[in-house]
Amino acid sequence: MLTLKNIKKIYKNNDLVNVALNNVNLNFKKSEFVSILGPSGSGKTTLLNVIGGLDYYTKGDLIINGKSTKDFTDSNWDCYRNSCVGFIFQNYNLIENITVYKNVELSLSLSGIKNKKSLVIKALKNVGLKKEMNKKVNELSGGQKQRVAIARALVNDPDIILADEPTGALDSKTSTQIMEIIKKISSDKLVIMVTHNEALAKQYSSRIIKIKDGSIISDSRPFIDEEKPREFKIKKTKMSYLTAIMLSLNNIRTKKVRTFLTSLASSIGIIGIALILSVSNGFKKQIDSYEKDAISSFPIIITNQKNPLTADYEINNEDASSIYPYSNDDNSNALNGRITSDFLNYLDKLNDKYLDSISYYRLNNLNMLTFNGNSYNTLNNETINLVELPSNFNNSSLKENYDLIKGKLPTKSEEVVLITDNKNRVDKSVLDALLGNVTNNVNFDDILGKELKLINNDDFYEKITDDVYVKNVINKNLYENKNNKTLRIVGILKEKSEGDITQNNGGFSFVSGVSKIGYTKELTNYVITHNRNSKIVKSQTNSMGIVFMGGIGFKTAGITKDMALTMLGLDNVPYAIYIYPRDFNGKDKIISYLNKYNDGKSANQKLIYHDYSKEISSLSKKILDAIATILILFSSISLVASSIMIGIIIYVSVIERTKEIGILKALGARKKDILRVFNSEGLIIGLSSGIFGIFITKILLVLVNYVLTSLTGLNNVAILSSYHAVLLIILITALTLTAGIIPSLIASKKQPVEALK
Ligand code: ADP
Ligand code: MG
Repeated sequence: MLTLKNIKKIYKNNDLVNVALNNVNLNFKKSEFVSILGPSGSGKTTLLNVIGGLDYYTKGDLIINGKSTKDFTDSNWDCYRNSCVGFIFQNYNLIENITVYKNVELSLSLSGIKNKKSLVIKALKNVGLKKEMNKKVNELSGGQKQRVAIARALVNDPDIILADEPTGALDSKTSTQIMEIIKKISSDKLVIMVTHNEALAKQYSSRIIKIKDGSIISDSRPFIDEEKPREFKIKKTKMSYLTAIMLSLNNIRTKKVRTFLTSLASSIGIIGIALILSVSNGFKKQIDSYEKDAISSFPIIITNQKNPLTADYEINNEDASSIYPYSNDDNSNALNGRITSDFLNYLDKLNDKYLDSISYYRLNNLNMLTFNGNSYNTLNNETINLVELPSNFNNSSLKENYDLIKGKLPTKSEEVVLITDNKNRVDKSVLDALLGNVTNNVNFDDILGKELKLINNDDFYEKITDDVYVKNVINKNLYENKNNKTLRIVGILKEKSEGDITQNNGGFSFVSGVSKIGYTKELTNYVITHNRNSKIVKSQTNSMGIVFMGGIGFKTAGITKDMALTMLGLDNVPYAIYIYPRDFNGKDKIISYLNKYNDGKSANQKLIYHDYSKEISSLSKKILDAIATILILFSSISLVASSIMIGIIIYVSVIERTKEIGILKALGARKKDILRVFNSEGLIIGLSSGIFGIFITKILLVLVNYVLTSLTGLNNVAILSSYHAVLLIILITALTLTAGIIPSLIASKKQPVEALK
């Protein structure tokens, strides 16, 4: 069954060569009780370890069931240890911090046997320890411990039991009990027992081999039987992850405080990063939502002026002691002719999904007359702001800036609305023109339904010379002229908040806070078709300068010839266009769309646009990003430090658990299994510090948000996204696993005998 042929075991330590076994030749039967006797240092343990595959012979051959072990692989040895031999050691070699049951079960776990429970209980019954199976090993007496070891050796039902001085640490009474058990085992197994107690050996064993200085000096019953070589069945051993995690958990449980402190320390890095991410993400979200708000009130403005927001043209009068020549025609701020009908067509094709709304500021004048029951009055650009309402007014966010306080919005060219400021005020001169001399508050109903007459240029202006026109007399005749178009006030809009030029004005007028009359695009078209060919437009077209109208020259009002033509109704090219993007992304898309239009255009044909939302937030976001990056870098250092710490903890654990590694190896655990045990320790520490860190972060965030609220007035700014939380837990787990790899590798490479020392 077992044959040793010329076995030599030589230990080499530096220059010291020690021959522990010298040409040992032995042959064992299938079942016998062999005692190996010899003085201390004679090589008994070495012999037993070589037979059990805990140590490897230097020369010769070990033949198991007729099969040479010369070219056994690591995994062959692992399963040989696991299923062919059972070890009983002088110092028991049990895992102290798990139960009796688990110790015995471990051997089965490695062999992958199902129905473990009944086997374990049977083995424990055989040694009389069934009652103690749920006790921890460290609660047992020496004799009980040795019985557990025997049960563990037997549970796999191996062919060979190897016992190294099994009674060496026991009193004589207990020794006898143990010997009885071993004797019983030897009835159907090969038992090889090392002892220096000759009396015990003689009393119990069937064969006594004496060894001295590594050589066999006597054998009471040599057995000579050459076995035919048989196929040695290799049954792979394998430890499940569950067993590995169970072992680690048990180990961690024995040092709770240390594990807790380690997890706490290593979670600090995670807490730091999580807090920084939460706060910076929170602020970024705030900036984003602010940006979104801003976008609806900060349009992209395309204009025929260099800068529509500066009332003062850019003139640098450095020397104020002289006079500067200045002409409206080369007005340095005016960029006539950039907004063309070509561009308007291009703008029409802009994808609607980027847009909230577009509004046009037109110069087209409307010559309107009112009759207040007493007198006829003019209402035009000189007396009230006339504005074209965006056609999608109802669907755009502009609507949010206005309240319809009475009536409805205009839908036809005949319909107009009166627009009040945010305090329901309308310019007194306008109310006078509509209703007569107004001294008190006016009912909405008095205004609703009021009629206005739109007069064509040819009726409104009278030609004096080619370049000079005067307004016709305002009277009943002009008011009732059959060419007039009758308009009606159908609603009253109210501006919600006091705006300035850029914000809250809803975009369809330069000036807010004053009363206006709003009309439809259809009315603009009507005015153009009826005035395009009027005499005054022709004169203006042909004139080199500005035509005088009604005694007032446009020149004095700072208007160029092109502007004058538009005002008179030659075309409806807007003077300025307000584009309200739907969101930030839409804004970028619109800007690149505008840039595409400018591509390849000469400098004086390029459109000028102004993006007022741009400057607001991009800077603060960049600064926030930079600060967050630096802070995250700092916390990453603490993360690295904690990983190193975990590496050290696992290394210490490896050293502490060297014996356990030896036991596992003796039971047939593979390198991989040992790696698994320590990797799962890293996994457990990593996971728990990750989860712990996130937990602490959540608590700290309450505090952080409280402080932020009191500092900034913003609620719940810092929020840890679950995405980041999971990512950070994975990160710390990966780091601890990595940190644990080196000590785990050291552990897995340990030789069973070395580890058991
Ligand atoms: P026994 O069990 O009979 O007391 P051992 O088998 O333990 O003796 O040791 C036999 C010899 O081998 C002794 O001289 C011992 O010093 C030596 N020896 C055992 N293990 C090693 C080792 N790992 N390295 C070097 N020498 C060893
Ligand atoms: Mg020994």
